[in-house]
Amino acid sequence: MISVEEALRLVAKHARPLAPGRADLADCSGLILADDVTSELNSPPYDKAQMDGYAVASHDQVPQRQVIETVAAGDLPRRAVTPGTAIRIMTGAPIPEGADAVVPFENTKNVGDHLIELSQTPIQPGDHVFPLGHSVRAGQTILRQGTMLRPVEIGILAEAGRNRIQVIPQPKVAILPTGNELVAVGQTVAAGQIRNSNGPLLTAAVQAVGGVASDLGIGRDDPDELRRLISTGLEADVLLLSGGVSAGDFDLVPETLSNMGVQNVFHRISLRPGKPLWFGVLEGQSQQTLVFGLPGNPVSSFVCFELFVRPALGQLAGRGFHGLYQQEARLSSPLSHRGGRATYRPAYWENQHDPVVEIVPWQNSADLAALASANCLVALPAQPLELDTGSVVSILLI
Ligand code: AMP
Ligand code: MG
Repeated sequence: MISVEEALRLVAKHARPLAPGRADLADCSGLILADDVTSELNSPPYDKAQMDGYAVASHDQVPQRQVIETVAAGDLPRRAVTPGTAIRIMTGAPIPEGADAVVPFENTKNVGDHLIELSQTPIQPGDHVFPLGHSVRAGQTILRQGTMLRPVEIGILAEAGRNRIQVIPQPKVAILPTGNELVAVGQTVAAGQIRNSNGPLLTAAVQAVGGVASDLGIGRDDPDELRRLISTGLEADVLLLSGGVSAGDFDLVPETLSNMGVQNVFHRISLRPGKPLWFGVLEGQSQQTLVFGLPGNPVSSFVCFELFVRPALGQLAGRGFHGLYQQEARLSSPLSHRGGRATYRPAYWENQHDPVVEIVPWQNSADLAALASANCLVALPAQPLELDTGSVVSILLI
């Protein structure tokens, strides 16, 4: 059995960023930019009013000005500002010729018909004017390859007129829970059957990290049926199976995968819960498929997803091989860890400034209800440990 660290190293070695492709800007949120991007335009594209007020010539000393025109955002000024005049201007409108500053309404007062008096002195050239190209110059690189496209970058790309973007796509992930005892949510559970909770859980977990999940339904413990469903799953970038990877008489997943040419990288790791994890790769002509045979027990399946599948999906999407956010916390009560395997215990932490963590009581790796009351996993090493209240442990936030 290999260690969690060795298993992570092997998954990281095989997970490669997907080939970039072009996408519409509207579909790029959360993706990684695959090329540098330059701006098509100056921004702003003209000297622009930054306040509602009066466009004036700053060097003009007279306090009173004749208002000769009104310009709204989206309009073009038809007249020029000359000594003794001003143009009423709205935020976003182009500065008229002859003007070099805007005096906000609050610094003016009406003193007659189309006549205003400025209470602001002196007026500096450029007051409340956003000059052409001051934010971005045409041809300037605005975003670098490798940048994550957050909402603000999507906005910058829109401003720069870039509608088709070269990005690394999100991985397509096929999900195949296996087991004769499984029935789909919405169906009646007969004697000896249980609901397929792993399918919906894994679908949601994939979606939570941006992956494109496709549910293949439930695979029976039958070699022909498994073969048929797995061959569909192998068209995806990642295939997640659950169940059928342990030592039972009907655990057919490893053998079926091997028969189909999926090269096994490791099977069984020194981890609790999650020991039966199977990982392999199918190398195709143009693409590869990473295959994870996750344990059937829901908590084990979840822990293996968070430890191994999450960083692999990040790596495929170009974000890098990163696990859950990790931090330290102090135990709220003593903990006896029997060791033997690296262990991840569902727990609840609170108090941002001085984090304290409490282990959630649970029955076993089928106890999904206990996991639902947890907000972290306490990471314990393979060595046995007797920890007192207040001992510092490492927690992974879920
Ligand atoms: P297996 O690895 O197939 O022996 O499954 C281990 C345990 O997990 C068994 O008790 C299964 O009934 C349970 N199990 C397997 N698949 C699922 C699933 N999709 N949803 C919930 N429980 C499952
Ligand atoms: Mg099974």
